[in-house]
Amino acid sequence: YYQPVARTITGEICGMEALARWIDPMYGMFPPNDFIGVLEEARLIHKLDSCIIKKTCEDYARSMKEDDRTVTVSFNLSRLDFKLMDVHSVIEKEIRANKVPRDAFRVEITESMMDSDDERLHEVIDRFWERGFRVWMDDFGSGYSSLNVLKDYHFDTLKIDMVFLRNYDARSREIVKSVVDMSKRLGVHTLAEGVETKEQFEFLRSIGCEKAQGYYIGKPMPYDECRAYLKEKGFMMESPSKRQYYHDIGKVNVLSATPFRSVDNASSDSDESNSQIPIAFVEYAGEKLRYLFANKSYINTLQKLGVNSLEEVEQAFAESNSVLHTRFLAMIEQARETEEVVTTDFVRGSNYCYAQVRAIAGYPGGNAFLCILH
Ligand code: C2E
Ligand code: CA
Ligand code: CA
Repeated sequence: YYQPVARTITGEICGMEALARWIDPMYGMFPPNDFIGVLEEARLIHKLDSCIIKKTCEDYARSMKEDDRTVTVSFNLSRLDFKLMDVHSVIEKEIRANKVPRDAFRVEITESMMDSDDERLHEVIDRFWERGFRVWMDDFGSGYSSLNVLKDYHFDTLKIDMVFLRNYDARSREIVKSVVDMSKRLGVHTLAEGVETKEQFEFLRSIGCEKAQGYYIGKPMPYDECRAYLKEKGFMMESPSKRQYYHDIGKVNVLSATPFRSVDNASSDSDESNSQIPIAFVEYAGEKLRYLFANKSYINTLQKLGVNSLEEVEQAFAESNSVLHTRFLAMIEQARETEEVVTTDFVRGSNYCYAQVRAIAGYPGGNAFLCILH
């Protein structure tokens, strides 16, 4: 079965997780919790996981033929897999046999199977990276070893365990916010699991948690059913050409008091977090300006200037002889060329304003900029 993952900033589907289901002709469907443990005890788990790897490669190859918007797929591995088989050769074999690109796959390794002293696991993870696979830490925060593991291993993404959203209150929100803030300081991406409501999704988007997975977006389903479900619900699939672009945008820490520095992955950012700096991401593509994101503080600042919505700015920019168009275009062009922070000031009504822009990501059709407005 596959469960979709959504990019919070766009709402588009950017990935899927492969999850095992055992469908018995007599007893019906077994969830993994009924058989993973048993297979591990019997030292047979590698057979299941090889089968899931094979299946995901086959499904991916099929979808590449049918659709140019295939999204990345992640699969789960057990600790025992590394003892019972050569995981790397199994993956290599299936990738070659099905002629699928290796950068289409993500490997999920659960926090609980990591032990700081496990030399072998270090080697295995390093080898995944060397071979071009991104490794994700699953169930972050579910065990007691989380922080140590984060210190000792190299991950692309943290999957924040669903326990934090299960009891969704002010305290759990603070914890999730801190995890996202910490991850960005370390240059690690974030995905939250167990997202069941719109409110949770909006919260994750507002703090810069890049991806969301859960029943709010969709349950695990057989591949074809999942594609049909997403279509019916009106979900867009993320274009592969924009994957790296959004990945780069996701590095910016919107919780930081010095967001420009988070563009450089600066871990020396010691300023207080949870700041209320007016921040927005704008995209300039096809001669159009579009907001990808704006925090509350940014929207409030615009309102103080008599601008009631982001659309109003977008529309003002669309008038090519407007002052906004000329000045903003000059700013972003300079920002793109120099890759530095470009600053400008202006007066609007009785307000003295100060704006800063920095290029943060690009793709062949456009660029994204981080904007601050005071
Ligand atoms: P996991 O990797 O953390 O997978 C997420 C689990 O949460 C899935 O349960 C999924 O159905 C469930 N889930 C997703 N969204 C929501 C939500 O919004 N609310 C709630 N309450 N639950 C949600 P599932 O499929 O039963 O899998 C359970 C676990 O079994 C997985 O946890 C994973 O650790 C393991 N597993 C599943 N497939 C495989 C596999 O192929 N190989 C190995 N080694 N382990 C697997
Ligand atoms: Ca998982
Ligand atoms: Ca998980």
